[in-house]
This record gives sequence, structure tokens and C-alpha cells, in this order.
Amino acid sequence: MGKEVYEKLKEYSKTYQSDIALFTQKLIQTPSISGEEKAVAELYMAEMEKVGFDEVFRDDMGNIVGLINGTQEGPTIMYNSHMDHVSPGDIGNWEGYDPYGGQIDTCLIDNADKTSRENTLCIHGRAASDVKGGAATQIYAGALLVRLKKEGYPLKGTYMFTGVVQEEPAEMVGMLHLVDKTFKEKGLDYDAMVSSEASSLKLYCGHRGRIEFLITVYGRTSHGSAPWLGINAIYKSLKVIEKLKDELYPSLPKDEDLGQSSISLNIIECSPGALSIVPDKCMLSIDRRTIPGETVAGAMAQIQEILDEIAYNDPEFKAEVKVKTALETSYTGVQYDIQKVMAPWKIDRDHPFVESAKEALEGIGEEVKYGYWDFGTDASKTAGIDFKPTIGYSPMQEQYAHTPYDKVRIDYMVRAMAGNAAIFISAGEKEGSIFGALKF
Ligand SMILES: [Zn+2]
Repeated sequence: MGKEVYEKLKEYSKTYQSDIALFTQKLIQTPSISGEEKAVAELYMAEMEKVGFDEVFRDDMGNIVGLINGTQEGPTIMYNSHMDHVSPGDIGNWEGYDPYGGQIDTCLIDNADKTSRENTLCIHGRAASDVKGGAATQIYAGALLVRLKKEGYPLKGTYMFTGVVQEEPAEMVGMLHLVDKTFKEKGLDYDAMVSSEASSLKLYCGHRGRIEFLITVYGRTSHGSAPWLGINAIYKSLKVIEKLKDELYPSLPKDEDLGQSSISLNIIECSPGALSIVPDKCMLSIDRRTIPGETVAGAMAQIQEILDEIAYNDPEFKAEVKVKTALETSYTGVQYDIQKVMAPWKIDRDHPFVESAKEALEGIGEEVKYGYWDFGTDASKTAGIDFKPTIGYSPMQEQYAHTPYDKVRIDYMVRAMAGNAAIFISAGEKEGSIFGALKF
């Protein structure tokens, strides 16, 4: 039974090659910068209705949900994509491609392992690799399942596609609203999540977390011609910068899979910011990456300790640290004033959900490899906060995301279409629960 269905998925996926390519082109031709996802949301909804999802709806924030009900009891697997993307940047860098053209051509592109380059059909344009190519693949995996169901195959569980707003600003407002508010209101839940973020056909098993801190160091203004009368907040910041870089950073912990935690001072601002005035405020914006086991409070305490130590030796020194916040407004007008925090997470390769996904991919003839993202994703909600089994599986390749070389391989989309459907079927076929809460 198992083998037969996997063969069918492989065979059927190939028949949808031109449909999925055309749909991805349409998605790319519909710009959807964060906060402006309305038009693309409508495209996603229309396509899900077209391929036969049983229920499709949009929530008050503008997130979309599509459901395919199985014919038998089973798990709900959420396939998640974000609908927004970053700016194309300078059009001059796009090597002749229109970032919103969705052009298809044969071009030289990396293989999954980045060991060689191959000439193959690609779709070009902003978000092809982050994440419109992956989102289209998840929707067409649904089309495969609908077809199997129509043929009488007993489908176990619920296939759920979710398209969320505003992933790129990295506070997860869309994802948090969807899971914590919309799901609760609708009586929906999920057992596991598959993210479409770029994974080069590998199973991705985690990423570091992220916290944005703002340190403000205080001084006192004086005339720029008489600096000895003031307290220069920039000079007072020097010790802080030195200690962050030379003491705190080297002492940060390391995870065997995700790498070392890091801290990076990325913006320095001062005020009043006029050449004739000694500044009385210096603001340091910090990008802090965390590994499982680290907390926001813990990471903040490390910085506070440095500030306290400097203040102990310098009665003039005054500073404070806080987590940065951002005000985000969705295209429907829903607003969140939210802390800039994303939780770290990882799932063991021998977690039963990962093993089930591995069997599925082997079932369709794929060689299974694993990886971890350098960047953060909305999986911080499902895995990092909700501790639900979560994996990344996608035809898109990380090295093209956010670049002017943004593109996706059509051959990989077809393979991942079958792969996503196989992962769903494999999870439904398992005896007993394979959805144990994540521990880290
Ligand atoms: Zn991105």
C-alpha cells in the first residue's frame, strides 16, 4: 500500500509541472511587501479553491487558511508559508530580470549541495526563493492529496495550508495572531508544522533565536567648543562596546548543531546629533542570537551586569538596556506593538515526526539530508513557543533568498510537491503518537 501511493505521488506531481510554474509566476507578478499582502492572499485563496481544498478562509488580520479533510481520523499537519517579501533593492543588480516579471528560462543554478551547477528551468523574481516557490509547492501538494482522495485512497488527518502576513519584520505578528487568536476562535489546532522556508530539499531541524536590544548610555550636553563642561555619551559608550565585543561575545554558549550564540552591535545613534553639542545620549542597537536554553531575561542580565560593573567604577556612568519593540500594522488594519524577539528551537533528527518525514522522502526515492537555518523563521512560534514538532522542507535554496539572483528550480518544486504530500501521508499512517512535545 505504502509503496504504491508514493509511486503515484511521484507520477502525478510531474503532471502538475506547468500548473505550479504558472501559479508561481502569478505570485511573483503580484508584489506583496510586508503589510501589503492583500492581492497575493486572494491569489492563494483562489488557487486553493481551484485545486479542491474543502475550506478556505481569511482571518481578520489577513492571514489565510486552507483545509483538506481526510476521509479518516488522523493528525492535522500545518504547512506554513509567509505571504510577504523584502524589497527588490536596486533593480540594476537584477542582471536583466524584472523582479516582478516571474520570467522562466533555462539557467545555470546550484545543485542542492552546492557542489556543482546545472542548467535547468528556473523561475526568476523577488520571493521566488523566499517563499513563493515553496508556498506554491505546498498548495500543489494539496492538489495531489485531493486527487488521491477522489480516487478512493483513505486519507488520514487534515492537510492545512496557512499563509501568514508580515514574517519578514521578524516579530511573527501574523503567525502569533493566526495560532493564538484565529485557531482558538475557530476551534482549530495542529499536531505538527512543515515550513516552506528554503531548505534545498533537505529536512531542516532548527535555528537560533533572536533578540534586539537597545542600550542607551546617558551623558550631559555642553557647547562643542567646551567639551570639558559636558559628559560625552559616545565616549561613555566605549567601555560598553569593548566589553560586549571582547568579554561577552567570546563567553557565549555553543550548540553542537546550531553553532554559537552571538552578539553584534549593528547601529550607533546619538542625540541631539549636532556638531556644536556634546551628545547626552548614545543608543546602541544590538542583534543577539540565542541557542536553546538561553532566555530573554538571561541575555538581558548579561548586558545589565556589564552596565552595573562600569557604573561601579565610574560614578558618572548611567545607562539602561531594554528589548526593542516595533509597531506593526497588517493590511486589514490590525496593529501590534510587539517586542522584537524570536525563540530558538531545534528538533532531534530521531524525533518520530522527523523519522516519519524521512521515511516519506525515501519512499519517493529521495536521498535524505539534514540542515539548520542561519536565519530565523516563523517556526519560532510553533517549535520555540508551542514546542510542536516542526521541520523545514522546501525546494527553494537559501543562497538566493533576499538577493537579486532570486530564483527557484522547477524540477525541485515538482520533487518537493510529491515530498510534502508524502510527509503528510506518512504521518497519518503511523501507529501511536509521533507528535511528542519538543524538549530543549
Ligand atoms: Zn525572507
